[in-house]
Amino acid sequence: MFNYIDTHCHLDGQEFAEDRDAVVQRAREAGCMRIFLPAIDVATCQTVLDVCRQYPDYCLPMLGLHPEEVRADWREQLAAIKSLLAPRTSNLEPRTSPLAPRIIAIGEVGLDYYWSREFEQEQLEAFEEQVRWSAETQLPLMIHCRKAQNELVAILKKYAQDLPGGVFHCFTGNDQEAAEFLQFDRFVLGIGGVLTFKKSHLPEVLPRVVPLDRIVIETDAPYMAPVPMRGQRNEPAYTRYVLTKLAESYGVGEEEICRHTNENVKKVFGIQI
Ligand SMILES: [Zn+2]
Repeated sequence: MFNYIDTHCHLDGQEFAEDRDAVVQRAREAGCMRIFLPAIDVATCQTVLDVCRQYPDYCLPMLGLHPEEVRADWREQLAAIKSLLAPRTSNLEPRTSPLAPRIIAIGEVGLDYYWSREFEQEQLEAFEEQVRWSAETQLPLMIHCRKAQNELVAILKKYAQDLPGGVFHCFTGNDQEAAEFLQFDRFVLGIGGVLTFKKSHLPEVLPRVVPLDRIVIETDAPYMAPVPMRGQRNEPAYTRYVLTKLAESYGVGEEEICRHTNENVKKVFGIQI
């Protein structure tokens, strides 16, 4: 029996509308102890909060504006998201209602120039603004980065001293890229299904440059299903394939992978499991 935490799962997505209860049930049975849900825009902030209300203390929300959702109206989007964050972030304030879940991170946020650089400048500004939120609220960052690592690292460096930490989600890079991210010492890499893909270099890269106290587990479901489920809708219960492959890569037992990654989640997110 595994015990793990899915630190990045779009469980609020339409893909799960028909059978979300069953997906959560299978996750629990597979040993998934918590599921963290990232928002990508104002509308998904609401759907994420709705799903987290349905599974209190099991599904935990993260709010932010995803780089691929940054367009001309990004300032209005950020204003709306900030108003959702404000009353819920402080541990000192009582929850407004037992059904208002505490937000555990800012995310997912970052830079993505894979498809387009149309809103490059807006992406930079929106990301930097949300990095400042992290410093102000001391909520960790759930970071999405594609084809933009230099620009992203440059922004983080400006605030590094004041940031509580975070996750570079869906890490797929090489030795040098891993090392560059790990220079931010309160940050970890999010590892998911890509590790199991046939052409992935991660089984060699990770044990070479990434200590076990610097990774967390994620599905990025419904995307990134691991082999042998590749191409299907992903879900938290499939994480055992990732755990097995990680254990193999590091040459340790699966329990040790679970123990380390759970500790890392507690450290980065400051939550009790
Ligand atoms: Zn995501």
